[in-house]
Amino acid sequence: MESQLKQLQIEALEKIEKAADLKVLNEIRIAYLGKKGPITEVLRGMGKLSAEERPKMGALGNDVRSAITEKLAEKQKVLEEAAVAKQLAAETIDVTLPGRPIRVGNHHPLTKTVEEIEDLFIGMGYTVAEGPEVEQDYYNFEALNLPKDHPARDMQDSFYITEEMLLRTQTSPVQVRTMEKYNGKGPVKIICPGKVYRRDHDDATHSHQFMQIEGLAVAENITMADLKGTLEVFAKKMFGENREIRLRPSFFPFTEPSVEMDISCMICEGEGCNVCKQTGWIEILGAGMVHPNVLKMSGFDPEKYTGFAFGMGAERIAMLKYGVDDIRHFYTNDVRFLKQFGLHE
Ligand SMILES: [Zn+2]
Repeated sequence: MESQLKQLQIEALEKIEKAADLKVLNEIRIAYLGKKGPITEVLRGMGKLSAEERPKMGALGNDVRSAITEKLAEKQKVLEEAAVAKQLAAETIDVTLPGRPIRVGNHHPLTKTVEEIEDLFIGMGYTVAEGPEVEQDYYNFEALNLPKDHPARDMQDSFYITEEMLLRTQTSPVQVRTMEKYNGKGPVKIICPGKVYRRDHDDATHSHQFMQIEGLAVAENITMADLKGTLEVFAKKMFGENREIRLRPSFFPFTEPSVEMDISCMICEGEGCNVCKQTGWIEILGAGMVHPNVLKMSGFDPEKYTGFAFGMGAERIAMLKYGVDDIRHFYTNDVRFLKQFGLHE
């Protein structure tokens, strides 16, 4: 009986030691110390023992029980601590993990380009002027030295709404509207950004709707040299200090003389590449001295005042600045395209 009890103790202690969790431990407790357990079973045989042996076995039985109980308590503590440690580990916040990026919207590349150009001219004393997109024929054409039968009207296929109303084909009507407000008294220095509409077939470089940015300066003694100086500052600020500009004669009904401005290619530095079509120069905008008729129609005395004007497509500027090869990217609003222009993902 003694050896049986000792064997049971060894067995129980071994199982307790190996118990993987509290559930197993509880099962061991019930199995060994329960009323139907092997220890009780063995001690039941005590009745057959001599009076001398009986208390000895009783004491041994108690020793075995308490050894097992003690071991159970010890193991329970260990397992409980392990369980807490495990839970803590699972709930630990790893402060070294990079945070999830918060997706923030960003300005559209066209908006960025327009704002950059606006800021540049505001820095030179210009103010921003705006006008309606649905415009009267008078402001869009007539007041800009384009009477109804003028052949140059064909240069801009227009969306007419009525005989007298159309979607403006240029931002130049804003010049006229602004000059009218000045009542013939200069100086006027404005920059007018806005949407314009022409009946063009959409392709990689054309769109029936695009953004134009137009500038106008009217004062006494303004000359072509002022125009050239202003455009040079613009070209260098927008496309880099090394840019050179050149003016080529051109024709617009509302300016005389008229020019097209090219900048030296910033991709090949004038060597010749695909962007500049091997010429080393890139056409950027049209400009000229405000036609006396335009000044007169807007209430300014052309004997006293002179002025210059220039106009450019914001898309073209943005395409060159950011290396965009298709104007349609600006309107399709593909987030993969747009997010390249933000600070955030
Ligand atoms: Zn080039």
